[in-house]
Amino acid sequence: MDLHLDEKLGEGYKSKSQKARVITETWTESNLYCPVCGSSHLMHCKVSSPVADFYCEHCHSEFEQKSENRVSLPKTLQGGAYSAMEARLKSEENPHLLILTYEDGKVNNLVMVPKHFFSMSVVEKRKPLKPTAKRAGWVGSHILLKDIPESGKIYIVKDGVEESPKMVLAKYIKTIPLKTTSLTSRGWLLDVLKCVERIPTKDFTLADVYAFISDLEKKHPGNSHINDKIRQQLQVLRDKGFIVFVGRGKYRKIVV
Ligand SMILES: [Zn+2]
Repeated sequence: MDLHLDEKLGEGYKSKSQKARVITETWTESNLYCPVCGSSHLMHCKVSSPVADFYCEHCHSEFEQKSENRVSLPKTLQGGAYSAMEARLKSEENPHLLILTYEDGKVNNLVMVPKHFFSMSVVEKRKPLKPTAKRAGWVGSHILLKDIPESGKIYIVKDGVEESPKMVLAKYIKTIPLKTTSLTSRGWLLDVLKCVERIPTKDFTLADVYAFISDLEKKHPGNSHINDKIRQQLQVLRDKGFIVFVGRGKYRKIVV
C-alpha cells in the first residue's frame, strides 16, 4: 500500500471538494483490498450509485467513502438529508463506510465502519434550514462518529502506518455477530457496548454500566426500564462474544 496521494489528478477540477474526491477515490481504487473478504482490490462504482462509491466483485460488499483533509478522525461527519439517512438505515442497502483522512499529500488514517454499526442513535437531526435559505425547511443530519463503539472503527491505516490486513479481517469478523435485523434493538445493543467500552478497566460491575444511565436516557427517551434493558443487552453482548460473566454482577471484556 503506497500512502502517497497523486495530487496531479486534481488538476483541471475547479472545486476543492471535487479535486479531493478524485484524488482520494483514485487512491482507494489503486491501493485498497476488500476489508470484508480480503479480495485484492475494490472496484469503483462508475455509474454513480446513489450512495456507494466502491464494491467488491468477490463478496459484493459496498462501500461509501468520505475523506477529510485533517490529521485525525473527526468527531462528527456530515450526513445527507435526515429522512434519507433514516430510510437508508432501515433498508439493507446501507453500504459500509470508509473514512479517509489525509495531510500533506499522504493518507494518515483510513477507517472502516461496518454498516451494522449504524443506528439512529448515531444520526443527529439538524435544525431545518432558515426560510431565507435556497432549500428552506430542508433537514440535514450529522453522523456522530464519537458515539459509535470503538469495535466498529476498524483502522486500515492508523497515524500514517498501514495495519496488517490479517488483523483488519479478524476485527471485521469479530463484529459479524452484532448484525441485527431490527434497527431499535441494534441501537440499544451498540449504545450499551459503547458504555462498556467507556469503562477504562477490563473487569467491571453492573454499577459501572449503570453510571451511564443518564446518557442512555437521552438516546432513548421515554423508556422507563433502562436498568432491565442494560442487563438484557449485557446478556446479548455475552452471547455474541464481547464480554464474559464472571459472576455476582461482575463482567470481563473480551479484547481482540
Ligand atoms: Zn470482498
